[in-house]
Amino acid sequence: MQSLYVHFPFCEAKCHYCDFYSLGQERTRKGDHDRFEKALNCEIKKSGSLLAPKLDTLFFGGGTPSMTSYDSMARAIEPLWKTTQIDSRTEWTLEANPSSIHLETFRLYRAYGINRISMGIQALRSDLLQSLGRVHSRETALQALENVFSAGFNNVSVDLLCGAPEQSEYDLEEAMKILTQFPITHLSCYLLTLPPHHKMYSQLPKEEVQLAHLLFIHRWMTDHGFEHYEISNFARPGKKARHNLKYWQGESYLGLGPSAHSYNAKSCQRWKNISSLHKYAHLLEKGESIIEWTETLNLDQLELEKWMLALRLNDGFPIDWLKTPAQKAKAYALELEGLLEKHPEISERKRLTPTGFALSDQVIRALA
Ligand code: SF4
Repeated sequence: MQSLYVHFPFCEAKCHYCDFYSLGQERTRKGDHDRFEKALNCEIKKSGSLLAPKLDTLFFGGGTPSMTSYDSMARAIEPLWKTTQIDSRTEWTLEANPSSIHLETFRLYRAYGINRISMGIQALRSDLLQSLGRVHSRETALQALENVFSAGFNNVSVDLLCGAPEQSEYDLEEAMKILTQFPITHLSCYLLTLPPHHKMYSQLPKEEVQLAHLLFIHRWMTDHGFEHYEISNFARPGKKARHNLKYWQGESYLGLGPSAHSYNAKSCQRWKNISSLHKYAHLLEKGESIIEWTETLNLDQLELEKWMLALRLNDGFPIDWLKTPAQKAKAYALELEGLLEKHPEISERKRLTPTGFALSDQVIRALA
């Protein structure tokens, strides 16, 4: 496996909409960071043999890995250096949240070899950030962006949310204008989803408004030199997220840390680590398995997965995947609805249109 994901399970506070496994500070006990470092060391030694001699991509996600001090991070992954090779050609991404981006620490991260930052900015309206449970403000986000570039990073991605209550196209445009005044290379834009019990759930905009937001972002970003290469992702030329492309192209990757997923494309097996730092550490200390579940994809699942992955990317799929008359008829109907189109640059392929990207579930259900 040439790609490695490491899950850092700590956050400053739990955002209201988050369903990733992470512990906010109020749930973090003294000694948890040390315990995580030791457990991760142990897992690297145990599972590192699955890694290729050289890593193509390495992704530190979470959680908020940027909360981890340089020393602690270095201790946590120390055995990795003896397991595989990481060099300047490895795309090494760190997820970072604005309130934990400090210039001196980021200089150390950069010198260590991290060469890409993925920043969870989400919005630039402080009242909206607060209502979503984010701990940063607009000012903190902009200062953090300054710090990231001052620390020497030149491959920086930003996450934005859209479809939030009372968020307007004006808010989105303002955010994109300000963010692209920095030399960011990539932007991920996700529709906000909230659990039904959330106090803002009933204020979520209707589907037509969400669709309008997504199309507005598509137009704005593509007009400003970014390629819309995946449903929720935009990149400057040559700056697609190589690590995430591994997921979207069905390639193998190893995930380490509590709640991390892994996939072996040769054996078509997927597995997930247990989503509890304490159980994860305890089981590793006892030398027992930390895998919560494993599944081997059958032919039907592989077929569905093939369609889901191909339709997320703007390269689309080869037309000879449309085998049955029913599939061909559905594809024709989707083209008439403006959701699917002949690929303008690659012959014999079809892909989703921008509206199709926004309504991709519908297209996948029809074709897969
Ligand atoms: S910072 Fe990210 S991982 Fe942490 S709680 Fe918020 S959304 Fe979840």
